[in-house]
Amino acid sequence: MKNQTILPYEHVLVLGLAKSGTAAAKVLLEHGIAVRVNDGKTAGNEQSINELQALGAEVITGSHPVSVLEDVTTIVKNPGIPYEHPLIQEAKNRQVPIITEIELAGQLAKGPIIGITGSNGKTTTTSLTGEMLIQSNLSVKIAGNIGTAAVEVANNADSEERLLLELSSFQLLGVQSFRPKISALLNIYEAHLDYHKTVDNYVQAKSNIFKNQTAEDMLVYNADDSTILRMVKDARARLVPFSVRKWFSDGACLHEQAIYFQGERIVDVDDIALVGEHNLANILAAISIAKSCGATDEAIKYVLKTFTGVRHRLQFVANIQGRSFYNDSKATNVLATQKALRAFSQPVILLAGGLDRGNGFQALKKDLTHVKKMVLFGETAKKIQSIANELKIESTIVDTMDEAVKLAYNVSSKGDVVLLSPACASWDQYRTFEERGDMFIQAVHKLA
Ligand code: ADP
Repeated sequence: MKNQTILPYEHVLVLGLAKSGTAAAKVLLEHGIAVRVNDGKTAGNEQSINELQALGAEVITGSHPVSVLEDVTTIVKNPGIPYEHPLIQEAKNRQVPIITEIELAGQLAKGPIIGITGSNGKTTTTSLTGEMLIQSNLSVKIAGNIGTAAVEVANNADSEERLLLELSSFQLLGVQSFRPKISALLNIYEAHLDYHKTVDNYVQAKSNIFKNQTAEDMLVYNADDSTILRMVKDARARLVPFSVRKWFSDGACLHEQAIYFQGERIVDVDDIALVGEHNLANILAAISIAKSCGATDEAIKYVLKTFTGVRHRLQFVANIQGRSFYNDSKATNVLATQKALRAFSQPVILLAGGLDRGNGFQALKKDLTHVKKMVLFGETAKKIQSIANELKIESTIVDTMDEAVKLAYNVSSKGDVVLLSPACASWDQYRTFEERGDMFIQAVHKLA
């Protein structure tokens, strides 16, 4: 048992197992705190249930009886469980404090916390920042939405180690005292509205990343995003802007095809392996954080030259006979595919299609001007084909990823891009978008 005095809890109900709930329960038990765990599902949770019982937790699964609230003094709620949940409502009636795993992580962390949030680009920016720190020999542990649960990493990290956290709006919603030394706000799109109900709620959740920061802390923010500009007016932290449009001498920006930080030229855009304007924004954010932590220009340049993208996110896969293959399987909606298409000026052979959610694809039209062929699959193949027909772009419907990649290669020329960016979820043909992307990568390697 260690650090018993850090956490001010007596009897905690951990609501929702999953990765973060299981990790939170284990850490609480390690700190000598009485833990009750409740999850609506038993199936799939067997391993966690056994482990936690062996460690002394009381585990109740299969339903959420009100009796799980008895005698608990605090609830650690899984970010996926809405505050409207009847049990949470009852807990509120009984005035039981409700926190989240991120709050716990904040209380346990001995070293400085870096928190990155935004609607899009979190994983990319967090990975880039992590690489820049590691290449500069600065000590860092990456956690949160990406990889290991934040609470586990925070519990094990020492005071020298920075904790670099990718944070979703769900995780930020329950923040009370969580205070990162450096926070970053990448962008705000009207996403996740089904959970947060209104844009205001969503913005409020994202604002929690800086609500406890003071003038000793730093907030890196996207100065091209009008919602963010409004949000940061309330911030007390030192503001560090980044922009792909405007010059900022106190932040990071794009100027004459190079990236500058606080007036210093760091790297030329031509020396960056990642493609897409959206990735330039992610890079500006990562550089702002990394430079503020003491990363070296050499390390930053090296990372930008060699980092070809997070797996499945506009990830460069291979160049075969002058054709570049990119895996953007994470593009599960039209907006993401538009971004991917805008990343290229050379002719593109687009592989797209997947689960039919009932939406249209008209919005894609204006970004298809440099697409010379479309290879389509899945439930939406015909719908997307009708767009191709309207624009007189050649298209073929295929059944498998292997067929799609082979056909794309056969119709391609030197200098072309072959892009998997489906604009649709994967569940009609694959278990996950990762599986779909892996099939693409395999098919490309078979070609080689
Ligand atoms: P997240 O972790 O926030 O989901 P990722 O880094 O995994 O973000 O990127 C997911 C997708 O979001 C990418 O494939 C790309 O289409 C889009 N994207 C990434 N960064 C940005 C950005 N800065 N602005 C807009 N879209 C972006």
